[in-house]
Amino acid sequence: MKDKGKKMNKRKMNLLLITIDALRLDHLSIMGYEKKTTPYLDKLARKGFFFRQVISNGPCTPPSFSSIFTSTYPFHQGGYSPLPENKTTLAEVLQSRGYITVAIHSTPLLSRFYGYDRGFDIFYDAMLTNSDSTIKNSLLSKFMTKGSLLNNIMNFFQSIKIPKKFQYYFQVAFYTKFIGRKEYYENAKILLHKAFVWLKKYNMGENRQKKPYFLWVHLMEPHDPYFPYKRFLKKIKADKLTLKEIKYIREHPEYMEILREYKMTDKLLNLYDAEIRYADAKIRRFFKKLNRKNRNWLKNTLTVITADHGEEFYERGAYGHNAQLHDEILRVPLIFISNELKKLKKIKQKDIKNIIDMRDLAPTILKLLGLPPEPSFTGKSFADLIYYDQEIQDDPIHKGVFSETFHKEGITRFSNLHDPSIKRIISYRTSKWKYIINEETMNEELYDLENDPEEKINVIKEYPKLNRIFRNKIVMHLKEKEISERNLKDLTEKKKITQAIRRIKI
Ligand SMILES: [Zn+2]
Repeated sequence: MKDKGKKMNKRKMNLLLITIDALRLDHLSIMGYEKKTTPYLDKLARKGFFFRQVISNGPCTPPSFSSIFTSTYPFHQGGYSPLPENKTTLAEVLQSRGYITVAIHSTPLLSRFYGYDRGFDIFYDAMLTNSDSTIKNSLLSKFMTKGSLLNNIMNFFQSIKIPKKFQYYFQVAFYTKFIGRKEYYENAKILLHKAFVWLKKYNMGENRQKKPYFLWVHLMEPHDPYFPYKRFLKKIKADKLTLKEIKYIREHPEYMEILREYKMTDKLLNLYDAEIRYADAKIRRFFKKLNRKNRNWLKNTLTVITADHGEEFYERGAYGHNAQLHDEILRVPLIFISNELKKLKKIKQKDIKNIIDMRDLAPTILKLLGLPPEPSFTGKSFADLIYYDQEIQDDPIHKGVFSETFHKEGITRFSNLHDPSIKRIISYRTSKWKYIINEETMNEELYDLENDPEEKINVIKEYPKLNRIFRNKIVMHLKEKEISERNLKDLTEKKKITQAIRRIKI
């Protein structure tokens, strides 16, 4: 008995991380949304722990993911795109602690060209194919990362003043013809099937007993272009679209840009919500397969489901997710679920309303997996919110989250290295206040989220003292960036040494 117990303790927990691109929090049905978009995610949220006030550290994929994976602010320690070498990723940490690490996605911005393959034993990003020559492989890898060529290309795409519809064609052509991807992105069905195939191999193979795994799957629905299948449009009762449009959309992803041009918000919402329902259905199917009685493959697994940012629907005169830092873009869902957590749930609160910084995700995951903290992570574990019952009130002024991105005229950019006219926009959000400062216009905004959750009335002039406090917070935040940059060389050296030590240990 004693031996058995010892053996069980020794077995590390697996981690399954599912991230969903551009899923805004208030479009989950559990949040009271009018359409039935997420029946399965709602169920998981009820079974596990659901966090209702999670703030993304950036309004789009690159800054947000750099914080999710490295537990640092996007601007700190060398920026966010490509992922700087000195920033340690969650995958690197788990790999060094004996995990098999696997990534499955098809998002160019999270590809090997942006450094997201670091720490993964198996990295599928749908870039390049097996049949590509090693010369093409190495040439592309060198060119794309060196001098941030890809950033410049992406910045160029963002800056050209042509109809969005054509920008879409450009991007598709760039990825499919030049880089060698089959499609603009692979859908959730394909990606989750790949994940299932890998899990099957893992659970049937000998590795199961030896090493735990970290499997990350990133889904591109409901990211634009929205071109959902007819059956999911029906499921959410997409009554704003004509039958002709419903038939047409699947074959014409660019159609949504025309709808944007004509500001057909209701129709766009139908398309976006149907894509959410599709992702929800595919996740349901995936979990059903894993949880079959004879399998029970998630038994010793911590599952985390979240999103990188939200999406706007003309609330402030734009569509998509550009450089604005309001809640429709910053608030994302977060669900934790595992057998152990389910046991805790019997006596604990269900929904957690405390403000959560995405930088805190990786430290929390380490804690829940029973692993020691990673010193380079700057976030703090919020596992206590799960373990302890007592409600903690967030300080409405001093407990806040910074969100930030580079941009030019409101369009997000990847870095400001080659263009000084690319500026920063930064927000500081607490449970009660949202302060935003735009370096390009020097415009300051302040919203009282308690009385004005939609952030419609800028009250900056009414609260000069708060204005000073929050502006000072941003100044300090940027000072920290300078300090972190000064130490950058040290950090890179330190990382090299730690990695060398880890290699010796293995
Ligand atoms: Zn994204």
